[in-house]
Amino acid sequence: MWGPPEDVPGECNAQLHIADDYGDNHATMRCSLPPGHEGPHKEVYQHKGEVVVTWHGDDREDESDAEEDDDVESEDSADA
Ligand SMILES: [Zn+2]
Repeated sequence: MWGPPEDVPGECNAQLHIADDYGDNHATMRCSLPPGHEGPHKEVYQHKGEVVVTWHGDDREDESDAEEDDDVESEDSADA
């Protein structure tokens, strides 16, 4: 569905418009927590007050040119 969401009865329906900050047709959030942190990723920024965004998953994993270490969770590796 394209266009702004319709208000849903019984819900607040407040909106947050996240900008296409890098001109790449994405609204990119970047986690600022320490590497290897537990729980969801998190970005906090100011926009008419504090905005806190939390999410699971890393979109960099979908990009072939992402510079990331292979931290595949292997149950066979004995590093205990
Ligand atoms: Zn994170």
